[in-house]
Amino acid sequence: MTEKKDKNQLPDLLLVVVPALLLPALGESLDFNIPEMVLRMVLTVMGVALGGGLYLILQGRPAWLKIGSLLLMTILVFGLIIGLKPAPQEEVLLTCEVCGYQALYEPADICGVCYVELNHATMEEEGYTSRAEMVREEQLLFFATEEGVSFFEPQTYRDEEEVFHKDPDWKPLVSAEEVQAYREE
Ligand SMILES: [Zn+2]
Repeated sequence: MTEKKDKNQLPDLLLVVVPALLLPALGESLDFNIPEMVLRMVLTVMGVALGGGLYLILQGRPAWLKIGSLLLMTILVFGLIIGLKPAPQEEVLLTCEVCGYQALYEPADICGVCYVELNHATMEEEGYTSRAEMVREEQLLFFATEEGVSFFEPQTYRDEEEVFHKDPDWKPLVSAEEVQAYREE
């Protein structure tokens, strides 16, 4: 009789312990607006409750049923982890009016490609009379630095850390001829 009892202790122990260890693993896949520590704690508590519940429900049942339930739960949790894995999404950046790359985190940011900061300070410093003039002048400067004028090439710009994409809807305010003339000045 005692031998049988001992044999049943391992599945019982697993029933209580496994859910408490398994559920927090879901934390990485869940995207709630709460700190990860709190989420893990909540999941651990849920795991303990689940384990306790399983233990009570399966009390006196054969060991294979307990192990089977645990296996099923493990598969379920890992299925959830794989299913919930969010697709890596690229951050949508704002288009820089000067160079046409999506390279701004904020409208008045310094551009990650042409390094122009389209804001009031730049306008005053450089003595531009209007925003359009500022954009035009900065475009002449930026596009005159390359050989040939290609407003839409390359489509992607890479530096050491980041990749920026040209916005296909962007339109330059200057023409290729104007850039050419500016370069020859
Ligand atoms: Zn730019």
